[in-house]
Amino acid sequence: MPPRHSPPEALLTTLSATRGRSDRLTHTEHLPARPARYAPWPDWIRPEVVASAQAMGVRQPWAHQAEAMNLAKSGQSVVIATGTASGKSLGYLGPVLSDLLVGTEARNGRGATALYLAPTKALAADQRRRAAELAPPRVRAALYDGDTPPEEREWVRQYASYVLTNPDMLHRGILPAHARWSSFLKTLRYVVVDECHGYRGVFGSHVAQVLRRLRRICARYGSSPVFLLASATTADPAVTAQRLTGLPAEAVTEDGSPRGPMVFGLWEPPLTENVGEHGAPVRRTATAEAAHLLTDLVERETRTVVFVRSRRAAELVALQTQDQLPRPLADRVAAYRGGYLADERRALERSLHSGRLLGLASTSALELGVDISGLDAVLMAGYPGTRASLWQQAGRAGREAQGALAVLIARDDPLDTYLVHHPEALFATPVEATVLDPDNPHVLAPHLCAAAAELPLTDPDLELFGPSAAPLLPVLERRGLLRRRGDAWYWTRRERAADAVDLRGSGGSPVQIVEAPTGRLLGTVDASAAHTTVHTGAVHLHQGRSYLVRDFDLDSSVALVELADPPYTTSARDITSISVLSTDTTVDWGEGRLSFGSVEVVNQVVGYLRKRISTGEIMGESKLDLPPRTLRTRAVWWSVTEDQLLDADIPPDQLPGAAHAAEHASIGLLPLFATCDRWDIGGVSVPLHPDTGLPTVFVYDGHPGGAGFAERGFQRAVRWLTATREAIAACECERGCPSCVQSPKCGNGNDPLDKAAAVRLLDVLLAGAHAAAEETGRDREAAQDGPDGRHGRHGRDGQAGPDERDGRDGRVAPTHVPDPTEAAQAAAEAADGAEAAARAVEREAGRTTDRPTDGSGPGAS
Ligand SMILES: [Zn+2]
Ligand SMILES: [Zn+2]
Repeated sequence: MPPRHSPPEALLTTLSATRGRSDRLTHTEHLPARPARYAPWPDWIRPEVVASAQAMGVRQPWAHQAEAMNLAKSGQSVVIATGTASGKSLGYLGPVLSDLLVGTEARNGRGATALYLAPTKALAADQRRRAAELAPPRVRAALYDGDTPPEEREWVRQYASYVLTNPDMLHRGILPAHARWSSFLKTLRYVVVDECHGYRGVFGSHVAQVLRRLRRICARYGSSPVFLLASATTADPAVTAQRLTGLPAEAVTEDGSPRGPMVFGLWEPPLTENVGEHGAPVRRTATAEAAHLLTDLVERETRTVVFVRSRRAAELVALQTQDQLPRPLADRVAAYRGGYLADERRALERSLHSGRLLGLASTSALELGVDISGLDAVLMAGYPGTRASLWQQAGRAGREAQGALAVLIARDDPLDTYLVHHPEALFATPVEATVLDPDNPHVLAPHLCAAAAELPLTDPDLELFGPSAAPLLPVLERRGLLRRRGDAWYWTRRERAADAVDLRGSGGSPVQIVEAPTGRLLGTVDASAAHTTVHTGAVHLHQGRSYLVRDFDLDSSVALVELADPPYTTSARDITSISVLSTDTTVDWGEGRLSFGSVEVVNQVVGYLRKRISTGEIMGESKLDLPPRTLRTRAVWWSVTEDQLLDADIPPDQLPGAAHAAEHASIGLLPLFATCDRWDIGGVSVPLHPDTGLPTVFVYDGHPGGAGFAERGFQRAVRWLTATREAIAACECERGCPSCVQSPKCGNGNDPLDKAAAVRLLDVLLAGAHAAAEETGRDREAAQDGPDGRHGRHGRDGQAGPDERDGRDGRVAPTHVPDPTEAAQAAAEAADGAEAAARAVEREAGRTTDRPTDGSGPGAS
């Protein structure tokens, strides 16, 4: 057995050399050590700040930190998008604290102020500690969140110069009471938006409107703060920053922090003897494979953390590993399930650091709250969803000298499978962008109400809120929410307008899940997901335990459940139809076409299947009597002609399976380009769609009004559909499996699916795209950019990859300007929501997720 602390390379070789695993390691990436690049302290940084930083061991800033400091000082909004642990906070704290220090010399001791926003309370608290370490006590930093006692709040408003809070508190607490914050807002110099890649989708769109409200109020008090954003490395950080704040931002992306060497393995578990739906081969699960690898690593006394997606999986990996190890070693493996008390977390840290504990299986809860670094190896059972999380997890491994090992183990789905066979998607320029759509009228309407309640809205204000604002106002007036007097719009209700919107909700009141015998509330599920997940008879998993839904009461929005352990899972069957409301943009791809616009999706859950857990075999089907639901949202869709089908050798009987398979795989791959997950989006494929008159595949945002995901798909369509084609073609299964074209949330029971015809269909579509690109004189490279490539310009150094082009000069891809009738319709719905919410008591905050179903259209079933 190799000695303890084998170099990572040797460890990986050993793992793949034993037990017939030679073909599972699909790629080894050597990430060389990166030396530090330093820059001098800018001379305007206050000596007190430099002295505290030096006392903490920072002798000089890294180059990217100094670059960010100088941009901020020049009054330029800036987004720092560098790696984990690259000291982004010093980049913004340098200018913020220096200016606040200067401000303490003003007569009232508060000549300058700054606001810090974090997505969570915990992060804000952590940042307060950091600011306190760097700043002399006369910079008064204070937390302001739901836990701040009332007597302290007054002090914060009057005296604090650095206020740390979250967007929810800004929206509900600070902006509506801006008069009481006037002295703070008057001198507001900086707004720090930390972890800004977290502001994505509907939540991100809401936060973007909250920031616009903040900018409007500041302008009224005579201030115009500079925005300093910190982001994980993503594609187009400057574009995201501009969408979020509405201001042009400069991106700082050249990371000057040092990094130890790392060996990164990509790993694909083997196919098993088991068969799944329609006889498809299934792979060994990523968690089972992780348990095997963890066993080998612990035997070699390698300190390892395995990241999994659920608490149940954490327990399974720990148990399986313990079973596979001899006794004394088995006791050195544990599961971490989150929700631990501070003492327990510290004890866990100590055991890992001392080496008493060798193997830990954990949910990503570990990312917050436990300091684990300097491990020998990190295993990731399944792609954690974004590159930011991937690097955050992998970054737990590594001590300077030895280097570190990280292994990504693929789950049985198209995205993971694609990634372990396309390392460039992980290790080259990032392709995924943080996506949001602040112009969504459903998001905007309640913020216009909140803004009008803060200060009457005037016509010049509308520009700030974007092109959707003007058509919305008359609708909100007709609903009795706003009234125009003179040249301004006023909020007319007695209720607080800000209470009408929950930044983290996604519309509709959530369904409560109640345990039948005890009446205990187990949790909630989003209204949009309820029909498919908690219908009567559904098996519902909650924190690793399984429940059977006894009754789903639509009127009271309650699902009564009881603890049960049936030998099956359930999956809903539904019928989905989609119609095009308006088309914003269409691009001709040879004979084929690609479009983006507004759609109406009507979905009805009609029954469900029971599938035996052990074999995946269908045990039976039951009917359900649920009403259809309508969703108005944004979609990207593509069509091909009959001639193209002939060229691709796809006869009519293969078409439904080809389109359906292409749709499933494309939904699986979109998260590679936009920070969504496959449950945020849905799809419909139709052999002959009445609105296009052609075979058409739609992919739509699962949230009312859209969240920007479909739009990103439209912008990166060539790359996205090329990756989709690759994922299907490369899968070693014969006729389709969960790694390529089967979907875990298919409303049609994954039927029909035709893997081979799907590849031919995408080939003929993409051939049209490339031909069109050549015809219009654009090179193939530009075609890779998707339809918005023509808006882009090269980065300032002329070397930016295609994905970065439209970011550097601050130009943003055009967002939709809804046509007036559509906007009015959307606003009417949005206003209904605002009205209902205004009557309701303050809703409990908490992130909810939409789970749109996907399904083929009526003609495809
Ligand atoms: Zn397959
Ligand atoms: Zn499907």
